[in-house]
Amino acid sequence: AKKMRLDKLLSHTGYGTRSEIKKLVKQGIVTVSGKVVKDSGLLVDPELDEVAYDGERVMYREVIYLMMNKPPGVISATEDKREQTVIDLLEPEDQIMEPFPVGRLDKDTVGLLLLTNDGQLAHELLSPRKHVPKTYEAVVQGDVGEKDQEQFKTGVILDDGYVTMPSNLKILKKDHDEGGVTSVISLTIMEGKFHQVKRMFESVGKKVVYLKRVSMGPLELDTDLEEGTYRELTDEELALLR
Ligand code: URA
Repeated sequence: AKKMRLDKLLSHTGYGTRSEIKKLVKQGIVTVSGKVVKDSGLLVDPELDEVAYDGERVMYREVIYLMMNKPPGVISATEDKREQTVIDLLEPEDQIMEPFPVGRLDKDTVGLLLLTNDGQLAHELLSPRKHVPKTYEAVVQGDVGEKDQEQFKTGVILDDGYVTMPSNLKILKKDHDEGGVTSVISLTIMEGKFHQVKRMFESVGKKVVYLKRVSMGPLELDTDLEEGTYRELTDEELALLR
């Protein structure tokens, strides 16, 4: 594996800033393969060299893959002056790895969001040519019917003239109350235009009032994850993505 500076390894794994680490290393608290080292610029192999801090092996992960159930009210960005971001919801030790959201969900959209610092994987999942399917569940004002299903299957014209690729609309449930009919649906799209699901329903005269992403490619939202929580991908999930 690639060699890296000892202070970089320790800061990436959460032991402090580089200058704090420099002091700690000077004090003799860090060992490499059992020997005390005092030079924080020493090049180490994070996988092969046994780096230990105060006797405890330092585990280095180069990449991180997190599945989040995004809550409403936070934005899918890494930084924002005013709004809370999905990165703000992560523990500091995960923030250190500098993950970013793979694609965007609207502020009010909830559900599956993958966060990683693996640029290659993110690129592949987002590439418009890959047509990675994304499935959403939504509550829609109005009576979604067969005509909508047919239109979605052929493609609808969005407000900017864009014609969508074929998508699969399923009607899961209908609720009738004083306000009229609302439909619970699932929609699988193979692309990811800005506000796509909401705009597709707008194009057939209906309004999305709740939107949740439940899958992205082979990755499915873990139904045990509460909104606002996250976990690392399992090895199996990672294998499906790669
Ligand atoms: N489509 C939307 O309209 N919003 C999202 O957040 C995702 C897909």
